[in-house]
Amino acid sequence: MSRVYNFSAGPACLPEEVLRQCAAEMLEYGTSGMSVMEMSHRSKDFEAILDQAEADLRELVGIPENYKVLFLQGGGNTQFAMVPMNLMRNKVADYILTGQWAKKAAAEAKLYGQVNIIASSADKTFSYIPDCSDLPVSPDADYVYICQNNTIYGTVFKTLPDTKGKDLVSDVSSMLLSEPMDVTKYGVVWGGVQKNVGPAGVTIVIIREDLIREDVLPGTPTMLRYKTHADNKSLYNTPPCWNIYVCGLVFKWLKAMGGLEEMQRRNIAKAKVLYDFLDQSELFHGTVRKEDRSLMNVPFVTGNEDIDKKFIAAATAAGFKNLKGHRTVGGMRASIYNAMPMEGVQALVDFMAAFEKENR
Ligand SMILES: *Cc1c(COP(=O)(O)O)cnc(C)c1O
Repeated sequence: MSRVYNFSAGPACLPEEVLRQCAAEMLEYGTSGMSVMEMSHRSKDFEAILDQAEADLRELVGIPENYKVLFLQGGGNTQFAMVPMNLMRNKVADYILTGQWAKKAAAEAKLYGQVNIIASSADKTFSYIPDCSDLPVSPDADYVYICQNNTIYGTVFKTLPDTKGKDLVSDVSSMLLSEPMDVTKYGVVWGGVQKNVGPAGVTIVIIREDLIREDVLPGTPTMLRYKTHADNKSLYNTPPCWNIYVCGLVFKWLKAMGGLEEMQRRNIAKAKVLYDFLDQSELFHGTVRKEDRSLMNVPFVTGNEDIDKKFIAAATAAGFKNLKGHRTVGGMRASIYNAMPMEGVQALVDFMAAFEKENR
């Protein structure tokens, strides 16, 4: 077996300990005589897995009692629709555009009501986070929407926008569980797990109870109502049982590692190694304004597309996989989520330094 350093933006690397436990329990979970993949979602064994996963997540994040945790399907793109369908009672919402995912969310919301773009960094290809300290928040807005960590462009909100009393809805797909978060600052905060938490197929939605209501937009399908899933403890229909089980193992792994404060400490240290290298390199450059740099997704370029290509090919051959930048921005991107060890980042930097020497 030879495992590589996988810098994919998602689906992304998972902790090796977790994968080993999955392998060990693949044929028989506990004394159930079957794999989690083969279990009824109504069985005692699976209900215990689901309850434990939620309890561990609540403990890790410190989720208050007046917030529900939902394990949903359909990925991030389904949340782009569920958010307006469930929350747009005045049919007005404010969106902050900081990249492709925020743009897609805003475009989807436009199918249901009026979308006001109250800030944007499109003018400089989303390489920074706009000033959100005094926004023109719409008086009748149902919510203010952000994509908190911009997976493609590598920016992150270091401070949350002042929403002037409106509920904040945040997509944290590519930073979920990478650092502590104060859930009380959000009305809804959600993330697809395939970036930093688990295998693709689960979206974790954390929603304040008063936002789970009957009076959703007319025509909202039963499956797309938060209330359906909240009332049924995420068991309205067959959930992705195996994926939830793996997420649960990751929660346990995070607890054993020391929780989210410790993950934040590690993630800061890892990102620093890469950004420090980029800042002194004469060949490689980061593409993001320094104050707004993500700890999770680090885009960089050489300024020469041919050298970018040569670097990606050489890195791939050396076992550093999935460093190609997003198809819309080019260059390179290293995603260094929770499960990427410091050794992986250090090895990448050493490789980049050697490449730079040879290609000066
Ligand atoms: C990947 C990603 C999405 C899209 O997720 P899907 O599950 O593919 O729909 C949305 N938002 C962010 C921030 C992402 O990184």
